[in-house]
Amino acid sequence: MTWRASKSPSATSELQQLHAEIRACVKCGLHATRTQAVPGDGPCPADIMIVGEAPGFNEDRQGEPFVGAAGKLLDTLLARIGLGRLDVYITNVLKCRPPQNRDPMPNEVESCSPYLARQLALIKPKVVLVLGRHALERLLPGQGSISRIHGSLIRRGDVAYVPLYHPAAALHNGALVADLEHDFDRVKQYLDRLLAPPPPPPPAPAPKQEAEQLNLL
Ligand code: URA
Repeated sequence: MTWRASKSPSATSELQQLHAEIRACVKCGLHATRTQAVPGDGPCPADIMIVGEAPGFNEDRQGEPFVGAAGKLLDTLLARIGLGRLDVYITNVLKCRPPQNRDPMPNEVESCSPYLARQLALIKPKVVLVLGRHALERLLPGQGSISRIHGSLIRRGDVAYVPLYHPAAALHNGALVADLEHDFDRVKQYLDRLLAPPPPPPPAPAPKQEAEQLNLL
């Protein structure tokens, strides 16, 4: 089963404006070292949103999120549960690549976070896949380590969050691939439950006269 939220022209154009704002951003020092900012990609609204850490080498060159080796693994994991890029909106905590792919610095996360908050408000996801500890710290602060809570479903208001190992971590430590596969299978179960269409309404009761005639038979 695939899920596609119906498109909203006004949210889509607001998102395009936000992407343009992000591309022009000079709020932190990363603008000086980036090739280009990487705002995000995917439909608007979208039932499923994916949040990673920050663009890497390939993303910085191409301007699209998750287009390098970690992105290929992410595509394989999505395909495993019947999803493709057209079904999900993907972005990162930081919209610009930190030099040498170092960890995001607190001031960079602070400067960039309003963009993520605005993306969440426009995309209106029902389920957010939280990739890695930096996205976890930003979206679910104080929830504990990714190694403890990966694969679990955490509800905050109308949104359900699923923390997952970052695919790049699994490229460094092959043992995590099996964890990610298992967790994506759980994601599929969550989606089947959370995004199932509502049951059809019960049939309206027969009009009184008709009901009386039926009683005569
Ligand atoms: N890693 C991330 O966190 N995001 C990307 O877009 C690519 C690699």
